[in-house]
Amino acid sequence: MEEALAQPELAGPPCPPLATDLTADVVILGGGYTGMWSAYFLKERDPGIDVVLLEQDVCGGGPSGRNGGFVNGWWSGIGEMARRFGDADAMELCLAAGRSVEAIGAFCERHGVDAWFTPAGELQVASSPAQEERWGPTVSELRRLGVEDELVELTREEVRAICHSPVFRRGAFLREGATVQPARLARGLRRVLLERGVRIFESTPVRRFRPGPPAVAETLSGSVRAGEAILAVGSWGIHWRRFRPHLAVRGSYIVLTAPAPERLAEIGWTGGQAIRDLRPSLHYLRTTPDGRIAFGCAGMQPGLARRIGPRFAYDPRFLAKAVRDLHRMFPSFRDVPIEAGWGGPIDVAGTYLPFFGTLPSGNVHYGLGFTGNGVGPSHLGGQILASLALHAEDGFTRLAVVRNEPMRFPPEPLRSPGMLLVNEAIRRKDDAEDEGRSAGAVVDFVARLPRRMGYNLGPR
Ligand SMILES: Cc1cc2nc3c(=O)[nH]c(=O)nc-3n(C[C@H](O)[C@H](O)[C@H](O)COP(=O)(O)OP(=O)(O)OC[C@H]3O[C@@H](n4cnc5c(N)ncnc54)[C@H](O)[C@@H]3O)c2cc1C
Repeated sequence: MEEALAQPELAGPPCPPLATDLTADVVILGGGYTGMWSAYFLKERDPGIDVVLLEQDVCGGGPSGRNGGFVNGWWSGIGEMARRFGDADAMELCLAAGRSVEAIGAFCERHGVDAWFTPAGELQVASSPAQEERWGPTVSELRRLGVEDELVELTREEVRAICHSPVFRRGAFLREGATVQPARLARGLRRVLLERGVRIFESTPVRRFRPGPPAVAETLSGSVRAGEAILAVGSWGIHWRRFRPHLAVRGSYIVLTAPAPERLAEIGWTGGQAIRDLRPSLHYLRTTPDGRIAFGCAGMQPGLARRIGPRFAYDPRFLAKAVRDLHRMFPSFRDVPIEAGWGGPIDVAGTYLPFFGTLPSGNVHYGLGFTGNGVGPSHLGGQILASLALHAEDGFTRLAVVRNEPMRFPPEPLRSPGMLLVNEAIRRKDDAEDEGRSAGAVVDFVARLPRRMGYNLGPR
C-alpha cells in the first residue's frame, strides 16, 4: 500500500468520511475488492445507477491491499467441488473463476491501471517428501473431466528450471495463475469507480445496519438509505450474528526482502511465476519487478477467531517464522535484508469457497468467505453481487456458490480454542514433515480433524 500510494494517480483524491444523511440506489459496505468489483459491475450494467460505498479504513486498507497478489481460479479445488456440487456445477465454477483471472488483466489494460499484472502461471511444489503426490488426486480429476491441461505435473528438473531451491522436489504447474501488486489493483479500482461517479466515503465504519427495505447503514456522523445493500465486509463478517456460524478467521503474514535481482537470477526465478508449496498451513511466495521476494505463511493465535484485533496487521512471532522458512527455502537470501512485514485476516469458509446470497428481507446481498484466495474470485464475486442487487436471474446467480448454504462451524466457546488447537497441530505436523520426522499420532489426529468433520480444510 505504501508503494501504491506513492503513485499520485493511485493515491487519488481524498474521500472524506460521510457527514450527512444520503439516499442511493445501492449502498455497499466494504471497500475491498468484493465491494469495489460489485460497484464496478453495477455501473457497467447500469451506468445511471447511484452507488454509495462505505469503507471503515481506506479502499484496499484491509486484505485487498495487503495480500500476496496471487490471482488464481479454482482448478486446484475441482475434486472437492465435484464431490460437493456435481461435475457440471464444479466445471462451471472453475470456468467462471478462470475467466476472472483473464478479465482482471483486461481491466488493467482497458483502464490504464498498472497493477503489475503478470500472467506467468503458478508453480505448486513439494517442499518436503510428505508433500509429493499431493496434487495427484487433482490431476486425476482434471483428466477425468477432460481439462488435464490446467495442471501439468513437473519433474524435479522441470521445477528447478523455474526456480532452484534445495528443498524443492517435484511439482505441478497451473497455467492459469497470475500475480498483481495487490494495493495497485485496489487503488486502480477506486480510481475507476470515482471516474464513474460512485460516491466513496472512507474512514466511515458502519455502526448499525437495518435491512429494511429500504436498507439503512448508519455511521458515526451520517447514514445511507438505499433500496439495495451489498455486504462485502470480508473477515469482519464474524462481527455479524448472521455470518458468524459460517466464518472462521485466521491470520496470514508476509515478509518482503530488499531488491536482490542478482540473487533471483542465481536461483533462476526470473519468470515471475507465483509459487506455493503443498503444506496445508501454507507457504506462498512471489517476486516483484524490482527483484524482491514476498514470502507468506499462515498464523493463528488465542482469541483471534472471535474478533479482528491489531495482531492481524502485525505479529512478530509469525513474521519471524516467515523469515526462517524463507531462508530454509532460499539460503542465498540469508544476507538480503527484510524490508517489511505485515499481516491480515483471512475469512475462512468450511468448503474453502466463498458463499453468496440474499438475506430474507430480499434486498441485502452478501459475499464472504474467500478463504485466503479472493484476489481472482472476488472479481467473479462482484459480478454475482451486481446480479443479485439488480435482481437478475442469470448465469452468475445460478452458480453453486450462490445456491448452496455455507457450512457451519461449531459454536463458541468451542470454536476459538478448537481452531487454535487444530491450526497449531497442522503447523506442527507441517514443520515436522519439513524436518523429515513424524509429528506423532496425537498431533496427526488433531490436524486431520477438520477433514473428518467434513470441512475442506487441513491435511487429508
Ligand atoms: C496477508 C494476506 C495474504 C493474502 N494473499 C492472497 C493471495 O496471494 N491471493 C489471494 O487470492 N488472496 C489472498 N489473500 C486473501 C485476499 O486478500 C482476500 O480474499 C480478498 O482481498 C477479499 O476481498 P474482500 O473485498 O472480500 O475483503 P476485504 O479486503 O477484507 O475487504 C473488506 C472491507 O470491508 C471493510 N469493512 C468491514 N467492516 C466494515 C464496516 N462495518 N463498515 C465499513 N467498512 C467495513 C474492511 O475495512 C475491508 O476493507 C490474502 C490475505 C492476506 C491477509
